[in-house]
Amino acid sequence: MFESLTERFDRVLRKITGRGLLSEAQVDETLREIRVALLEADVNLDVVKSFTEQLRTRLKGAEVKEGLTPPQTVLKEVFDEVVHLLGDQKANLQLSSKPPTVIMLMGLQGSGKTTTAAKLAYHFRQSGRRVLLVASDLARLAAVEQLKVLGEQINVPVVGPEEGVSNPRDMFPKVRKKWIEGMHEVVILDTAGRLSIDQNLMKELSDLRELYKPKEALLVLDAMTGQESVHVAKAFDETIGIDGVIFTKLDGDARGGAILSIRSVMGKPIKFVGVGEKIDKLEPFHPDRMASRIIGMGDIQTLLEKAQSAVSAEKARQIVTKASANQISLEDFLEQIRSMKKMGSADELLSMIPGASSLKSQVDFEKVESEMKRTEAIILSMTRMERLHPEKLDGSRRRRIAKGSGTTVQTVNQVLKQFEQVRKMMKTALKPNGMRALKSLLP
Ligand code: GDP
Repeated sequence: MFESLTERFDRVLRKITGRGLLSEAQVDETLREIRVALLEADVNLDVVKSFTEQLRTRLKGAEVKEGLTPPQTVLKEVFDEVVHLLGDQKANLQLSSKPPTVIMLMGLQGSGKTTTAAKLAYHFRQSGRRVLLVASDLARLAAVEQLKVLGEQINVPVVGPEEGVSNPRDMFPKVRKKWIEGMHEVVILDTAGRLSIDQNLMKELSDLRELYKPKEALLVLDAMTGQESVHVAKAFDETIGIDGVIFTKLDGDARGGAILSIRSVMGKPIKFVGVGEKIDKLEPFHPDRMASRIIGMGDIQTLLEKAQSAVSAEKARQIVTKASANQISLEDFLEQIRSMKKMGSADELLSMIPGASSLKSQVDFEKVESEMKRTEAIILSMTRMERLHPEKLDGSRRRRIAKGSGTTVQTVNQVLKQFEQVRKMMKTALKPNGMRALKSLLP
């Protein structure tokens, strides 16, 4: 995500060193480089101009902040201005005081609407809400089928058209009946898209908007289409009116121009971002977290949240206690590998660690992930007794495990050696002082 922009920012900001704040000439130089970085990232020209002007004012008036060095102060000013560009505060989805909350998704064909409808449904289901999906993209029969398949995967009901119905307006009474009967709290409407904006599409969407009176009419935009998506958003807003946008395919967007331009050009918030094809790859949009990723400071907050949801506090406490008594078993090791996998790919995790984005080119992610898979296969080929007592793994057991996991005895030996090293490392790190410090960090 935004690799090329992050790299540019990283290069510009790394140059800022020294004991003082920037001189006027240095401010000019920094701004010039930031301007080029933003233009290369395909950020709207007017947005680039106003951004650099505001940043100039900030940098000129900056005073070294308490606890920060001068270069860190400059970085903080740039960060604050990028956060501002992205919309300052996180924009939550509005929920109706009287259920259901109707969310209408619109967008061009291929923007990721149908996938996003299902991701959003999954998001609400995860928080325990009763959700209903409505397939009203009747221009493309495959879209109805696609949504039904996705709905089934996530266990959310999907209402489609009756036979012979070709106008999505005509589905409304059936949908309404269904949400009343099912006491649904959130109704997500997937609508038709076209390859480009046309009158018929706009009319159909306006009619649906009037009929369903959605609390949120959201436009789904493909981040990879750059400035084109900003034009699309303007057209939809002028004709139908939108409350916010969802950008999809950020995982494939190296430049970030659309996401940095939209708020300034349209004044509408980004509510969610799609970061992958899978159903759980939808994230609420946090301007500060995104800004910190963009300028290469990583996104520690999201990382911590992911870690918290993957490993419960109770589990963490148990691990700390066991580790300090040198009682970590291969069973715990397996669980650790699984929690890490739940948090995301090694590539994604590294992007979130401050300063680590520059390391990315030096790490062979495929190798890391295949080693993790191999280790998992090896541990899974052991009996429970063997996982709890690795010291009992003699030659014949090791041969059996190698065979079962499709690896070699050497690899099994290697994994066991690594495990021993980790166990030792944890024990040393958790000598009384470390142990107290770590325990105090746990909730
Ligand atoms: P629609 O025509 O707007 O309904 O688009 P679809 O929902 O059918 O999506 C078009 C394609 O984009 C599909 O192959 C999706 O898997 C893919 N897609 C959607 N969102 C994302 C995303 O956030 N990241 C990636 N990589 N692919 C996505």
